[in-house]
Amino acid sequence: MSQTTTAPVADLFDRRDKVVMGTYGRPAVTLTRGEGTRVWDADGNEYVDLLAGIAVSVLGHGHPAIGAAVAAQVSRLCHTSNLYVNEPQVLLAERLVALLGTDARIFFGNSGAEANECAIKISRKTGRKEIIATDGSFHGRTMGALSITGQPGKRTPFEPLLPGARFVPYGDVAALKEAISERTAAVFLEPTLGEAGVIPPPPDYLAAARALCDETGALLVLDEIQSGIGRTGAWFAHQHEGVLPDVVTLAKGLAGGLPIGACIGIGAAGSLLGPGEHGSTFGGGPVVCAAALAVLDTIESEGLLASATRVGARLAAGIQAAADAGVPGIAGVQGTGLWLGIELSTTTPGAFEAAARTAGFLVNGIAPDRVRLAPPLVLTEADADAFLAALPGIAAAARQAA
Ligand SMILES: *Cc1c(COP(=O)(O)O)cnc(C)c1O
Repeated sequence: MSQTTTAPVADLFDRRDKVVMGTYGRPAVTLTRGEGTRVWDADGNEYVDLLAGIAVSVLGHGHPAIGAAVAAQVSRLCHTSNLYVNEPQVLLAERLVALLGTDARIFFGNSGAEANECAIKISRKTGRKEIIATDGSFHGRTMGALSITGQPGKRTPFEPLLPGARFVPYGDVAALKEAISERTAAVFLEPTLGEAGVIPPPPDYLAAARALCDETGALLVLDEIQSGIGRTGAWFAHQHEGVLPDVVTLAKGLAGGLPIGACIGIGAAGSLLGPGEHGSTFGGGPVVCAAALAVLDTIESEGLLASATRVGARLAAGIQAAADAGVPGIAGVQGTGLWLGIELSTTTPGAFEAAARTAGFLVNGIAPDRVRLAPPLVLTEADADAFLAALPGIAAAARQAA
C-alpha cells in the first residue's frame, strides 16, 4: 500500500502554484491514496472522507468493482469515438433510461458543465431563446452553463454571456410564475441548491415548476449533476417529488470518480437534437461507461440507496441533536440522504473545515454559514457516529480559531 512521493510535500504546493493556473485557491492537503471511506495525505494522516471529491466518489475509494471494470475495458478497447458504436455506452444508456422509468434518450459528455451545455442547446431547438434559472444556482463554468448560473460574482468578469437568461429567487413559485411565458424555452432548476450549501426548496416547488412549464410549453430541466445517482437515497432527487422533468443532467457520481456527463432528454425532448447538431470526441467512451455501469450495479447490489437514506438520517439527526442541545456554533442541518448542509453560527466555514480536518474528517466549508457533507454512499453508521462524536470538539476548536 505504500505510495511513492517524489518530493517533500511542502515543495509540491509551491511547484503546483508555479505550473497550475491559480483558479482554485491553495488546497490544504495533498491526498495520496484512499480505501473505502478513508483517504490519506502525503504525511500519512488518515481522514474519513465526508465530501467524496464533491459528491463524486459514491463507492468510496478503490472499490474493486470500478477497478475491475475499468481494467478490463481499458485493455480490451479504450476509445472508439462516436463514429462507432461501443457496447458499454448502449448498456449504460439503457440502464439509465430504465432507472428513470420512462422513454428517454441520452447524450454523453465528460462533465457536468457539458451536460448542461447540451441541455441549453436542446432548449434552443424549441425555437425559443429565453432561459429561466435561479439565484444561488450553479450549473457550471463553461460560457453557456455560466450564463445560467445564479451567482453574479462568477458571471460578471466574463460578460457578455448568452443573452436570454433570467434569474428568479430559488423556491419562489410566485416569482417563477411571474417570469415564465410562451417565450421561455426552459426552466433550469437544481432539486436542492448544491453549491450554495445544500439548501432544499419549499415542498412542492418542483411540482409547481412542472405545472408552470406545462402551461407555457417550456422545458423543465433538472440539474441532478450533484443530487443524482443515489445522493439523496433515490436514484434521482426528483423521484422523491413524483415530478418528471423534460431533461435531466447528470455527472458527478455517475462514474464513481471518472469524468462523465449525461444529458437525458425525456420523451420528445430526447429527439430535439438531430444529426450533426451536437457531439463529443470522448463523450460516452467505453471505459467511463464501463465504470458507470459498475457504479450502478454496485449501488444496487450493496443496497446503497437504502443505506444512504438510513446513514444520512442518522447523521442529520445527530447534527440536529447537537444543535438542539446548544452545542455552540452548530445551528442546524438541512438536506436529504447523504447530502447535508450543516448550518453554522458563531464560527466560519473555513475554521470549521480546518478543525474537522485536524480531527480527521474532510468536510467542505462552502457558504458563509454552511458546511457541506456529501460522503461516499458506502459511509457506515460507525463513520457517521465517529463524526457525531467529534462534532462538539470540532465546533469548539472552530470557534476558537475563527
Ligand atoms: C458540479 C456541478 C455542475 C458542474 O459540473 P462540472 O463537472 O464541474 O462541470 C453543474 N451543476 C451542478 C448542480 C453541480 O453540482
